[in-house]
Amino acid sequence: MNVTTGGPRILLRRLRETMASAAPAEKRLDEVTRLIAANMVAEVCSIYIARGGEVLELFATEGLKKEAVHQTRLRFREGLVGEIAASGLPLNLSDAQAHPSFVYKPETGEEIFHSLLGVPILRAGRVIGVLVVQNRTRRHYTEEEAEALQTVAMVIAEFVASGELVSPSEAPAATLERAATPSFEVTPLAEGIAIGRAVLHEPIVEIKAHIAQDPELERARLDQAFIALHAQLEEMASAHDMAVGEHREIFDVYRMLAADEGWRRRIADAIEGGLTAEAAVERVQVENRSRLMRTLDPYLRERLADFDDLSNRLVRHLVGKGATSASEVLPDDAVILARAMGPAELLEYDRSKLKAVVLKEGSNTAHVTIVARALGIPLVGNAGDVIDRIASGEQIIVDGEAGWIYISPASEIIQSYQQTITARTARVAAYAALKDAPVETVDGVTIELSVNAGLTLDMPHLEATGAAGIGLFRTEFQFMVSAQMPKLDTQTVFYKQILDAAGTRPVVFRTLDIGGDKPVAFLARDAEENPAMGWRAIRVALDRPVLLRYQLRALLEAAAGRSLNLMFPMVTEVAEFVAARGILEKEVARRRELGKELPQSLRVGCMIEVPALAWQLDRLLPLVDFVSLGSNDLMQFFFATDRSNPKVAGRYDLLSPAAMGFIKHIVAVCERHGKPVTLCGELGGKTLEAMTLIGLGLRRLSVSPASIGPIKVMVRSLRLGVLTAYLDHILQLSDHSLRGRLTDFARDHGVIL
Ligand code: PEP
Ligand code: MG
Repeated sequence: MNVTTGGPRILLRRLRETMASAAPAEKRLDEVTRLIAANMVAEVCSIYIARGGEVLELFATEGLKKEAVHQTRLRFREGLVGEIAASGLPLNLSDAQAHPSFVYKPETGEEIFHSLLGVPILRAGRVIGVLVVQNRTRRHYTEEEAEALQTVAMVIAEFVASGELVSPSEAPAATLERAATPSFEVTPLAEGIAIGRAVLHEPIVEIKAHIAQDPELERARLDQAFIALHAQLEEMASAHDMAVGEHREIFDVYRMLAADEGWRRRIADAIEGGLTAEAAVERVQVENRSRLMRTLDPYLRERLADFDDLSNRLVRHLVGKGATSASEVLPDDAVILARAMGPAELLEYDRSKLKAVVLKEGSNTAHVTIVARALGIPLVGNAGDVIDRIASGEQIIVDGEAGWIYISPASEIIQSYQQTITARTARVAAYAALKDAPVETVDGVTIELSVNAGLTLDMPHLEATGAAGIGLFRTEFQFMVSAQMPKLDTQTVFYKQILDAAGTRPVVFRTLDIGGDKPVAFLARDAEENPAMGWRAIRVALDRPVLLRYQLRALLEAAAGRSLNLMFPMVTEVAEFVAARGILEKEVARRRELGKELPQSLRVGCMIEVPALAWQLDRLLPLVDFVSLGSNDLMQFFFATDRSNPKVAGRYDLLSPAAMGFIKHIVAVCERHGKPVTLCGELGGKTLEAMTLIGLGLRRLSVSPASIGPIKVMVRSLRLGVLTAYLDHILQLSDHSLRGRLTDFARDHGVIL
C-alpha cells in the first residue's frame, strides 16, 4: 500500500466526484472501494455499514468475493471488524488471522490475506461502519497510511449518513428496546436522585462538508475559530470568581491545552491534506482519542475529556454555534447528557436548573465527578451508547444511588421515584433542623463529627451541616488540576481562603497525597504495577522534599496568627514521620529567622493507612499530636483487597471480627497514650459502621457532608453502654461478617440507621 500514489488530496477529490455522480448509491460505493484499493495499493478494500445499530454488514468490497456482499454480517465485538466498531479504534495487524478476535467467514475468501488495517467510520462520535484494507503479505501499515485511511473514512461517513445506503430510521435510536427495557444500569459517581428533562450538553454539530475547495480559506477559518475559542475561555475564566482556588487551576489547564501548538499544527496539516477546517479538527481528535485511550497514564487519560471538549468547542465555533447548552435557555429540571464533560463546563451551567448529569464514560476520580459531588449534583457514568439514544426534551430519571437511569419512564416508576425524592427532601430538612443539636448518645457520650473536603466549593457544607470542622482537607486536588506545580503564592492564597471560610472551626490539612491513583501533570512517573502501593503520598514528599517544603511554607504563611493542624498521609514507619516533621521544623525555624509571624498553634498528626504503622504506635504516639485512621487505604491493605476492583471489593466485609478487632486495638493504644484519634475514611460515613466504630471506642469521625445528618440521628438514638458490651462478645466470633448481628442489635435497641 502506498498512499503517496496520487496523494491523499487527489484521492479525496476523486472520492467526492464519485460520490456526487448520478450512479445508483451501491454502484458508487463499489467505485469508492476500487478507488481506495487502487490508490493505496491494497488488494482488498471493504466497507461494512452498521445496520440497526447492532450488526455490521458488508456493503461493498474490492478484492473479497462479491457474493459475500450483504451476506457477511458481524455483530459489534464479533471478529476484527466488530472489535473495531465496538472500540471505535483502528486496528493495524500484520497477521490478522493470528489475532484472538479473528473470525473466519468462508464466503469472503479472505484466508489468503494476512495483513489488515481497519478504521471505524464515525459520525457525531458514533460508529456507523468500518473501513478495511487488506494485503496478502504480512506487512505492517505505516502511521501515515493509517491516518490517510481515517481521513477517507470521514468522507465515507458523509456518504453513509446521507441515508442513500441505509435508511436513517435504522440508526441506533430505532433499535433501542425501549418498551421492554426502559432502564439502564450505570455507575453512580456523585450521589442523589433526580427526575428531569434531557438536555444534550453539546448541541450535535453535523459536519456537512468534509472536503475543502480552498485550503487558504479553511486556514483562515481555523485562525478565526481559535481566536474565538481563546476569547471564550478568557470570558469563562473571569465569569467564575476565578481569582483563586481550583477554578482558576482548571481554566489554566484548558488555556494551556488550547494554546498547544502541536495540536494546532496537526489540524493545519489535515487541512493541507484536503479537509475542511471542521473535518480537520474532528480528524485530529479521532487520532488523539486512539492515542490517549491506549496510554496507561491516568493523568493523560483524564486529559482526553478536556481535549474532546476543546475540539468540540472549536468545531462549534467553526460552524457558528460557539457555546454548549449551558448558554441556552434551560428547562428548570435539566438533566445534562454528555459524551464527555470537563469540570469547567459543569461550572458553566446555572446550578438552580441543573438536576443531574449523565456521562458516557466518567470515573470516580475525574475532576468533573469531584466537582459534581461538591455541588451536590447527582452524576452517573458509563452510560455508553444510551446517551446517543436519548432525544433532547425526553423525560429521564437519574438514580445516582442505585445506579440506574430510566428513559421516558412509565407513570408508576415516576411516582415511585417522586415518593423517594419527597422522603429524601423531608429527611434532608429534618437533618438541617438538627444542625445545631448536640451530637450526643442517649447515655450522654459526645461524638465529634467533622466533614471531609478538598475544594473551596466544599466549604459552605461546614455551616450547612453544623459540623465541628474539617477533619480531612485533601490538598491534592489543587495540584491534580494544575499544569504546573502551583506556585507558592497560589497555594498560600488557596489555604487562606479555606481557613477564612472555616472561621473558628478547625481544619486538618493533609499534606499532598499524589501519585498512585491521584496523578499530577508536573511529576514524571514510571508505570507502576500496583500504584496504590507505589510511589505516592509521603514517599513522594520525602523523595522530592521541595514539594513538601513549599506546601508547608504556604500552609505556615496562610495560618500565620491562627491555628494550623496538619497531618502526613501513608506513613509506614516512625522514621518517615520523623523525617517529615523535621522538614516542617526547618520551615518553622526559617520563618522565625525571617521574623515572620508563626501560627498561633501548630498541631501535627499522622495518618494511619498502612497496617505496619499500627504495630509501632508506642513509638509513634509520643511524637504526634493526633492520629487519623484512613480506613479506605488501611482496610485495602489489611485485607490485601484492591478497593477499586469490583471483583474483590465486596469480598470481605469490613464489619468482620478481624477488621473491627484491629481498629479496636489502635483506638485502645491511642487512648492509653492520651492521643486523639479520628477516622476519616468512607467507613465512618455509613450509619451501621459508624455505630460499630463508636462502640469500639472512637469518638471522632470525619465524613462526607451528606453523611453528617444520618450519623447525627443515629448517634442521638444510641445507648452506647449496651453496644460496647455486646461488641466485646461478638468480636470473639469467627463469623465472616457481623453485619447481620449488628443490624439486629440496632433494630432491637431502637437505633435509627
Ligand atoms: C483513606 O485512605 O481512608 C483516606 C482518607 O485517604 P484517601 O481516600 O484520600 O486515599
Ligand atoms: Mg488514603
